[in-house]
Amino acid sequence: MKKNFTNTASNKLYCNVFGHQYKVSKSVTSHVKEYTCKCCKRQLTTNSNGNLIELTPKYREINTILEDIYVRRMSRLKTKTLSSSIY
Ligand SMILES: [Zn+2]
Repeated sequence: MKKNFTNTASNKLYCNVFGHQYKVSKSVTSHVKEYTCKCCKRQLTTNSNGNLIELTPKYREINTILEDIYVRRMSRLKTKTLSSSIY
């Protein structure tokens, strides 16, 4: 029997029976991450309460903003550390 990994319908069935195989697909901040099921491509994310929820277009947008703020804050922290080590 040939295994067809592009057949999402049977992958979904697999997930229903064995559970999703979530892998971190993106780290938004140190505590907010996006997960993708390697089987059926279902996506989850961490919300503000730390719970896993379905990654809707709205949450994707929130994550983009969060990531932007996080990256900015991190780069500012780095600059701060750099300049304080100079002086
Ligand atoms: Zn799945």
